[in-house]
Amino acid sequence: MNEMYLKFLSRSENEVFARNVVAAFALPLSPTLSELSDVKTAVSEAVTNCIVHGYRGTEGWIELTCRTEDGVLHIEIADSGRGIADIGRALTPFYTSLPEEERSGMGFTIMQTFMSDFSVASEAGKGTTVRMSKKMGARAAEDAR
Ligand code: ATP
Ligand code: MG
Repeated sequence: MNEMYLKFLSRSENEVFARNVVAAFALPLSPTLSELSDVKTAVSEAVTNCIVHGYRGTEGWIELTCRTEDGVLHIEIADSGRGIADIGRALTPFYTSLPEEERSGMGFTIMQTFMSDFSVASEAGKGTTVRMSKKMGARAAEDAR
């Protein structure tokens, strides 16, 4: 078991920072390039959501926790921003509350597709936490057999 915790500001440059931190943390599990790329994409989507939706027009803290256990990478990404009033609607493919900014409404769908496990908890006015996990490297290969 290994674990890390990181807290960073909701600035757009931290999207790249966060996804590279997670990739570096996951390296001991010997992930394939495709597994790493899936995880980086999912982290980017989650962090971008905190920045553009959670803290829309303001700046706040994003908290990232990662844990590796038995070849599985567990990721938690949380903001203390505006929260989501209707999670069912937010999870619907192509739903976006910002169509005028040319968002496609596919972030949550991408996270669900690229990770083996995904859930979101949110409370309006309090914030949003995304939890996701993925089997990596040898563990993924074993379980695919
Ligand atoms: P895209 O990710 O394709 O650019 P999007 O961000 O609108 O578009 P999703 O990532 O699927 O699409 O999110 C769907 C909706 O859920 C958002 O439009 C927003 O209303 C809400 N949402 C997602 N994450 C958060 C968050 N951290 N805080 C508040 N609202 C959120
Ligand atoms: Mg999004």
